[in-house]
Parts: sequence; C-alpha cells; structure tokens
Amino acid sequence: MSLNLLQAWQSAKKRLETAGLSGPVIDARLLVEAAADATRADIVADPYRALTPEQEARLEDYLNRREHREPVSHILGRKGFWKIMLNVTPDVLTPRPDTETVVEWVLRDFPEHAAWSVLDLGVGSGAIILSILAERPAAKGLGIDVSEEALAVARDNAAHLGLAGRLALLRGDWTAGLEGDRFDLVVSNPPYIASHVIETLEPEVRDHEPRLALEGGDDGLMHYRTLAPEILRVLKPGGRFAVEIGFDQKDAVEALFREAGAQGVQTLKDLGERDRVVAGVKKPLETKVRLAS
Ligand code: GLN
Repeated sequence: MSLNLLQAWQSAKKRLETAGLSGPVIDARLLVEAAADATRADIVADPYRALTPEQEARLEDYLNRREHREPVSHILGRKGFWKIMLNVTPDVLTPRPDTETVVEWVLRDFPEHAAWSVLDLGVGSGAIILSILAERPAAKGLGIDVSEEALAVARDNAAHLGLAGRLALLRGDWTAGLEGDRFDLVVSNPPYIASHVIETLEPEVRDHEPRLALEGGDDGLMHYRTLAPEILRVLKPGGRFAVEIGFDQKDAVEALFREAGAQGVQTLKDLGERDRVVAGVKKPLETKVRLAS
C-alpha cells in the first residue's frame, strides 16, 4: 500500500519523535517535501496524493539518515538563510538563524545604493556576504576562506544567486597579504568553540560539521586575537565591522577590539536574546575645518 503525502508526513513525524530529535515536525515536513517532490502548499492542498515507490524509498533513506543524526541541511544539500537559499555540503558550516543577526545589523546602516566594499573572513557557504550583496546592488565583496572545498560551495552559491560578478573569492589565511585601509565593511563568523567543548556538542554538529569552522582553540578566542587587529588594519577609516561570537564571549571579544583601537564597540543579541555579534567602527580620519581668511 502506498502512502499519501499526509500519511507520509505523519509517520515521518512519529519516527523522528521516537528517535528523540528536537524538531521532528519541521524536519519531517522538509524531508517529505523533498522526497515526494512536493511544495509546501501540496501537503495542505493535495494531501491524498500518493507517493510513488521511488519517492517512498527516497523518504525511507532520508529518515534513516536523519535518525542517525545527519543534519537536514546535509540530507537536502541546502538551507535557507535570511532571504536566500544556499547549497550546503559537509565542507561548510550550515548557516544558522543566529548569524542573521550580523546581516540585520549591517543592513540597518548600509545605504541602499552605496558602493561599499565588503570583506567576509571565513566565508564558508557565503551565507553572510551573499545575503548582503543580494540586498545592496552597488556593493562588491571579497570572501576569503582557508578551505578550497568551502570556496567551491561559495562560488556555486554566488553563481546560482546571480551574484558571481560582484563576489571575488580567495583562498587565504584570514587577512594575510591584504593591503590596509581597503574595506568599508568587514564581517566574519569565525570558529569560536573552545576545543574541549566540541565533544559535548550535539551529534549533528560534532559528527557532521567541519571542525575547521568550529574550533577556536583552548578558550575559543584564538581567532579573535588575530582578527581584531587585522580587521582594524584592513578597514578604511570610518569603516565598520561585525563578527559573530559565542553567547559568553561578549566581554573578551569587546576588549580585544577596543585594544585594537575600534570605536563604538557594542554587542548585539540574537533572537534568543543571547549575546551574538560584536560590532564597531574604525576611527574616521580627522576632518580639518578650514576657516576662510
Ligand atoms: N554557533 C555555532 C554552534 O554553536 C558555531 C559557529 C562558529 O564556531 N562560528 O554550533
């Protein structure tokens, strides 16, 4: 007997619930939609449509993988972030809603038609910089990552979003080799999990996401020590930065940026009210007031 869409969704929910997964309702819906080539509306508008045997087999495979804690983003190969859809592989950090806090803050002060140059350090899938470029048509970006595989994912995402013409991608070690005073805006979601904490993370993250994108040394702050002075170096005077942080890193990261000379350093909270983004500006050039004689 073949399942219809509604039955498939209900039985998928039950299986994921039984496996003790945290978001069984949404996960089940996403997996059924993908396995049955259905849109979100189909489950409501056409609930009795039968799955083909191939679709049922595909759903079985997806559910099996999810029960083994493979993230939905890896099973589907994509993840929505801000207003865009991104291809995702195990070589990049799956974009998280927390990171949208960076985009939200940046866009608030980013004039619609400003030709700003934007740098994303540790670009990964391209989630942050592509969201920004998608909304600011005159902006240009550079994304740097140490992982060639991650850059391939970002390149692919830039292409299918029609943004490849405005995003350069470069393999590199953070800002090494970049000249100073160059960017209007620098964003980054660097790896910030302390090494000893990695093993305590949920299996979806611990076993499936790239360590390279997660691990921030003994105290999680290793990369900010490099990044704070370097971000201040590559920013133009008056330029802004916004970096994601762990929920308990506000004081330490703010201090690093203040020591590096940043002004207006502040921390923004994510939707869950946790400290999530440290932002600030590089001191603008003195404007000399000339009096007419
Ligand atoms: N927020 C991510 C997590 O908790 C980590 C992201 C990062 O290290 N940049 O899994």
